[in-house]
Amino acid sequence: MVMTTTPTERAEAAIAATMRAAVFHAPGDIRVEEVARPRPGPGEAVIRVTLTTICGTDVHILKGEYPVKPGLIVGHEPVGVIDELGAGVVGYEVGDRVLVGAITPCGQCHACLSGKLSQCGHGSGYEAIGGWRFGNTINGAQAEYLLVPNAQANLAPIPEALTDEQVVLLADIASTGFSGAESGRVRIGDTVVVFAQGPIGLCATAGARLMGAAHVIGVDGDLSRAAMAKRMGADIVLDPTRVDVVEEVRRLTDGVGADVAIEALGIQETFENALRCVRPGGVVSSLGVFSGKLQLPYEAFAAGLGDHTIVTTLCPGGKERMGRLMRLVETGRFDPTPLITHRFALDQIGEAYDLFSNRRDGVLKVAIRP
Ligand SMILES: [Zn+2]
Ligand SMILES: [Zn+2]
Repeated sequence: MVMTTTPTERAEAAIAATMRAAVFHAPGDIRVEEVARPRPGPGEAVIRVTLTTICGTDVHILKGEYPVKPGLIVGHEPVGVIDELGAGVVGYEVGDRVLVGAITPCGQCHACLSGKLSQCGHGSGYEAIGGWRFGNTINGAQAEYLLVPNAQANLAPIPEALTDEQVVLLADIASTGFSGAESGRVRIGDTVVVFAQGPIGLCATAGARLMGAAHVIGVDGDLSRAAMAKRMGADIVLDPTRVDVVEEVRRLTDGVGADVAIEALGIQETFENALRCVRPGGVVSSLGVFSGKLQLPYEAFAAGLGDHTIVTTLCPGGKERMGRLMRLVETGRFDPTPLITHRFALDQIGEAYDLFSNRRDGVLKVAIRP
């Protein structure tokens, strides 16, 4: 007897059942292994990941400082090609190149429809970082294939002129860094101080410049990061191990203080200094991820009488945001590629984690190619 197969069945059989992926097992143990390849349900898509990267948050996961379930595929910065589309996802074709933000809003819940896409929580409402799912609550991007939820809201087509390396950092660090300047309501002519010039701080520096700041003051003690800060738009970079940053900002602003201070590290010292640097009526825009207790000495915020604004922002995601950021790159307003300092294959990701988490060899961001 001869078995006959339909074209659909043959196409199904051609899709490999497994893939390589970086899986979290326990603190200190993220390894690449063979796992089941995802298939899309209604409203979902599967992309073949062509480029991704490692984020500081992934290092917190590796070290056990941010808990995730063992067996989870990590990573939240995907660039890829649509491999399969679930039912109901319209306007896309298999083979389209897409960028997907680190935060994947559903576009339909209370938070999304109230304009707080990053806090998307499928209606549950109160849990912060609800919109961060990849490599957190669902499988992530450090893999050959990635299941994208709410695909209609999250697949951003990549313009033909842009390479994967030009867009991969937009998924998280550029979106987050720029949002520091946007939430800080930087105005044309402002003086902006950006505390810490790691990958996100560097993008906040670029963001402040894009928003129209007249004077951008970076703060970082690392010489290579200080040099990169100038490349990203800082006019001057202060070394906090050598100068009193608060005094220096006061001097540079004729005693007035900065209009906006962006905090991109997440420790007491930089948060407090950010507050001490801004003028009365100024804005502290916080991007850092804090742990433990954060204290607010009364004199640092004028005993509550200084009309200060303190804002926090989680990385804005969704395809509209990604499209906006890609247009900035396409028109030459912003070039994220100098931030990619090292390149690895997915199977070498252990090496990449080691280099990145120990900040060796002047590393800023690594590109991982599955
Ligand atoms: Zn991240
Ligand atoms: Zn939502």
